[in-house]
Amino acid sequence: MIYMDNAATTKIDPIVLNEMLPYMTELYGNASSLYSFSNSSKNAIRTSKERISNVLNTKPSNIYFTSCGSEADNWAIIGAAKASKNKRHIITSKIEHSAIINSCKELEKYGFDVTYVNVDNNGNVKIDEIINSIRDDTFLISVMFANNELGTIQPIKEIGEIARKHNIFFHTDAVQAFGHEKIDVNDMKIDLLSASGHKFNGPKGIGFLYISESCSISNYILGGEQESGRRAGTENIPGIAGIGMAAMLSYNKLEIYNKYQKMLQEYMINRILNEIPYSYLNGAYENRLANNMNFTFDFVNGESLLIMLDMKNICASTGSACHQSSKTPSHVLQAIGLTDKKIRGSIRLTISHDTTKKEASYVCDKIREAIFELRQSSPEYNDILKKM
Ligand code: PLP
Repeated sequence: MIYMDNAATTKIDPIVLNEMLPYMTELYGNASSLYSFSNSSKNAIRTSKERISNVLNTKPSNIYFTSCGSEADNWAIIGAAKASKNKRHIITSKIEHSAIINSCKELEKYGFDVTYVNVDNNGNVKIDEIINSIRDDTFLISVMFANNELGTIQPIKEIGEIARKHNIFFHTDAVQAFGHEKIDVNDMKIDLLSASGHKFNGPKGIGFLYISESCSISNYILGGEQESGRRAGTENIPGIAGIGMAAMLSYNKLEIYNKYQKMLQEYMINRILNEIPYSYLNGAYENRLANNMNFTFDFVNGESLLIMLDMKNICASTGSACHQSSKTPSHVLQAIGLTDKKIRGSIRLTISHDTTKKEASYVCDKIREAIFELRQSSPEYNDILKKM
């Protein structure tokens, strides 16, 4: 099996798994209990927050664990809205993940106003539109760090500075970027940041929200006093131990991993664009995650291509994992100006530091062969051939 869907989820690192296992077997104490048996659980939370805060350049007390990236996103948007007093306006982008878009849509039902700013054809958020959308009652700007379908990285520091200048809180959905890109929440003026363990070789079922000391945000999960009274629910200690270790490991090797993946990415992009006519890379070549590639192939149906790749044991996707069963075309590819027809011919390949050059080469070969075969039955493509 060749796995090229690392934006959907990643393989857990064996060191991460080892870190988690004792908390599933011997060290199962509830971190809220008073007896000393629970101290190992309390220590696991402390260590994990230290590891995460070190890489973000903040304090451990600003990290709050959640059940996933979606919960962290929901909390940031809905929690900020609940705390916003009489301010009613949010600015976000048209290419956000559904965890953000649907939180905003929900708030619209309760009378909040949301501006969804456009991106250019390369998938870069239009900064001018953000500036022009700011109102006296804007309380939050939420722009993702890197897009899950395209891999494009947004100018986060620039947006953070704009938000700070206008006294607006700035949230970034860093689910695809945390563990893959350097992030300094102070330098980038980020008030809220969401991340998810399973996107950087950590476990599923654990994420976190960074909340700066100066950011007012209400609770989202209500109940007990866990997480300093800000997020109820018995802590998922194995997950917490795992996400902290995964964060530390990925940032220890960030430069080596990124350099390697960049090399593979460049190799695959070059081969695909050069060897397959009528193929296009979606999203800017520059400023993109090292693991993410999104291609459109004319005269081909992306789903048929994925099925053919699956028959060769290659895992790829047509875009966001959360929308694989959806019949509506990708809102991200629509936002960069692709027609529905082009969107239907698009696939996403996301590699990891484990992907070998041999695998990358095999995948390029199989994509070329599959497209050649699929185009045989395209009347449009055959017409073009006849005219040549
Ligand atoms: N935000 C982005 C950009 C994502 O890519 C994802 C998942 O793919 C999420 C949020 C949701 O994260 P989770 O699957 O941990 O809920």
